Amino acid sequence: MSDILKKINQKDPEQKEFHQAVKEVVETIKPVLDRNPEYGQDRILERITEPERTIIFRVPWVDDAGQVHVNRGFRVEMNSALGPYKGGLRFHPSVNLSILKFLGFEQVFKNALTTLPIGGGKGGSDFDPKGKSDNEVMRFCQSFMSELYRHIGPNTDIPAGDIGVGAREIGYMFGMYKKLSNEFTGVLTGKGLNWGGSLIRPEATGYGCVYFASEMLATQNDSLEGKTCLVSGSGNVAQYSIEKILHLGGKAVTLSDSSGYIYDEAGIDADKLAFVMDLKNFKRGRIKEYTEKYPEAVYTAVDESLGYNPLWNHRADCAFPSATQNEINEKDAANLIENGVKLVAEGANMPSTAEAVDLFIDHKLLFAPGKASNAGGVAVSGLEMSQNSMRLNWPSEEVDSRLKGIMKSIHKSCVDASDKYGIPGNYVAGANIAGFVKVVSAMQDQGI
Ligand code: GLU
Repeated sequence: MSDILKKINQKDPEQKEFHQAVKEVVETIKPVLDRNPEYGQDRILERITEPERTIIFRVPWVDDAGQVHVNRGFRVEMNSALGPYKGGLRFHPSVNLSILKFLGFEQVFKNALTTLPIGGGKGGSDFDPKGKSDNEVMRFCQSFMSELYRHIGPNTDIPAGDIGVGAREIGYMFGMYKKLSNEFTGVLTGKGLNWGGSLIRPEATGYGCVYFASEMLATQNDSLEGKTCLVSGSGNVAQYSIEKILHLGGKAVTLSDSSGYIYDEAGIDADKLAFVMDLKNFKRGRIKEYTEKYPEAVYTAVDESLGYNPLWNHRADCAFPSATQNEINEKDAANLIENGVKLVAEGANMPSTAEAVDLFIDHKLLFAPGKASNAGGVAVSGLEMSQNSMRLNWPSEEVDSRLKGIMKSIHKSCVDASDKYGIPGNYVAGANIAGFVKVVSAMQDQGI
């Protein structure tokens, strides 16, 4: 085990997701470390794996029955070498420091790849918005922001959404921030369209992921036209990935949530997608309800005892894991390969385990790590910041064309870096090397 992995393991032995993310980066940037011995003297790996600042706070709130609850709030300000901390807030019962440090660490590389001047951070809470009323969510968001506001700002740290944090939560948090700071600024991204949000922000992660997949296919003179795609998740990333797959002539056949998944062999067309958007975004329903409206689809409930997820066990050409971390294990990866899948583009953050990634790379799949392929979301967040600074809004064509340009440029950075270091076609190493070199050179310029 490398020195840095031993060190972070000794410091925080329980942070397994964080160790997984660091291990992947350290292993793939080895050729860069070998060529630059000064990184060792400068303790670059120790510096880049230690957050600049971690804030942990109490979030008390009152439910509709008058009961008091206490959750834990976090913000991990990982790295500001390239710009102010930028990254989402996740509200989910699984949230802890390990998960947020892994996400913050990934965010640093991802944000570096976007070409925009943004550092990396991540935050959130172990609060579960599932089953809570609007008023409960509002009270929680207000309490959360009543502490977080003093640590963030439009030039300091700009949070956004992630799992469990969408337009509704951003609105409630923005309202509280504005009250406390007495300023109307672009402190959060993912804002509503008529109060500072950017067009294409809701679509950005999904669209960006599919643009990235198209770039990968283009290297083999191929396209998404006629391709069958497996998509997991049913939130904003999954929804807009499917929308873009449809625009480009592909067919998506699956969607999931934490309870199970649907398989619709005929394909999720525009009407079915509109139903899913309404169900998930407004009715806050479960994906099982898809089969009540479209009985030709098959619903399968989660069964942990299987040891694999049957969603990944259907014949297909491409896979877009867009639910959560470590949702594809080694067995799932083997199933995907056996079912003819040639391309995996991660819409979620680190949805494939290390063993799954190794298998994809060994089998020469086109495999895009989330920090490259899902960077479209934070990229358009960066564009929202630019528009807020200029106090104007770009039309959707302008934002979409910039998004496309950024995804193309990320793809090129990955390809150039992996070619330069003699590992062509390895997008994991390419993304890690390109992101690492950029962040580290800024850290060196700024001194120790
Ligand atoms: N949560 C998203 C991500 O993982 C978006 C972050 C942002 O827009 O700041 O990149």
